[in-house]
Amino acid sequence: MRIALIINPHAGGKKGAKLLPVIEKKLSRAGVEYHTYLSLYHEHTVKIASELDIARYDAIVAVGGDGTNFHVLNGLLSRFKPETLPPLAILPIGSGNSFARDLNIFSLDDGLRAIFENKPGWIDVCSFSQAEKKYYFVNIAGFGFVTDVAETARKFKWLGDFSYIVGVFHRTLDLHFHHMELELDGRAVSGENCFVVFCNSRFTGGNMLMAPEARIDDGLMDIIIAGKLSRASLLSTLPKIYTGSHLCHPAVSHVQAKTVKIKTRPEKAMLADGEVLGTTPATITVHPRMIRYLA
Ligand SMILES: [Mg+2]
Repeated sequence: MRIALIINPHAGGKKGAKLLPVIEKKLSRAGVEYHTYLSLYHEHTVKIASELDIARYDAIVAVGGDGTNFHVLNGLLSRFKPETLPPLAILPIGSGNSFARDLNIFSLDDGLRAIFENKPGWIDVCSFSQAEKKYYFVNIAGFGFVTDVAETARKFKWLGDFSYIVGVFHRTLDLHFHHMELELDGRAVSGENCFVVFCNSRFTGGNMLMAPEARIDDGLMDIIIAGKLSRASLLSTLPKIYTGSHLCHPAVSHVQAKTVKIKTRPEKAMLADGEVLGTTPATITVHPRMIRYLA
């Protein structure tokens, strides 16, 4: 077996650089041939993936977190047809490894086991499109409060896990609602809104169970819509995302769809897999079983 390792050395607070020799040793010992590609700057991962000689590899491995996987996926799909790609894999050493959980990968050893076992499975991929832009994601996209929190948390990344708490309190004090109009496979939903997330997989922010019923191969995205919540209600509901019980809140609803057209007033920033994509209006579509991942 020959694989491409695309590694973000800064993943997980520079864990990437430290773990690379460990990973390479374990792969060698198992008889896996590997080529290592080091990502030197933020968008470099996209470039590396788009320039890869894919025919040389039995799997392409994103070594990092959700962001690294997002960049590898988008780099590959910017140049290659999905059906021509070898399976993708993840060695989850980032600060957020949400998507890997839906592949039953909870640790570096789980990721290595998936490579050694080499059992690919087809999974759904979602596309996010605006007038001239198109991105793909496998984890989660959203706008509103949760997205604003993630954006603030990024600015305080040096605080580690505490950055998320800073984000929550900052955005709760500065809480705004917006008007949203969603068209879910032709059904219209509108109203005053706190946040909406579009989930392909179940987890976000590492281990928050945002969409407990989402499946990565059912051809549907799970959409969680949070309407107008008071500050107190919002703060008491957020911790419930860790167990998935936030869905019981009367202002929170859960629907499934294949395609969603999104409009908001005012325009809202949209994030997918932790990366800023652009703003509303936008369309999100599920592409059933588009690529293979090793699980
Ligand atoms: Mg699904």
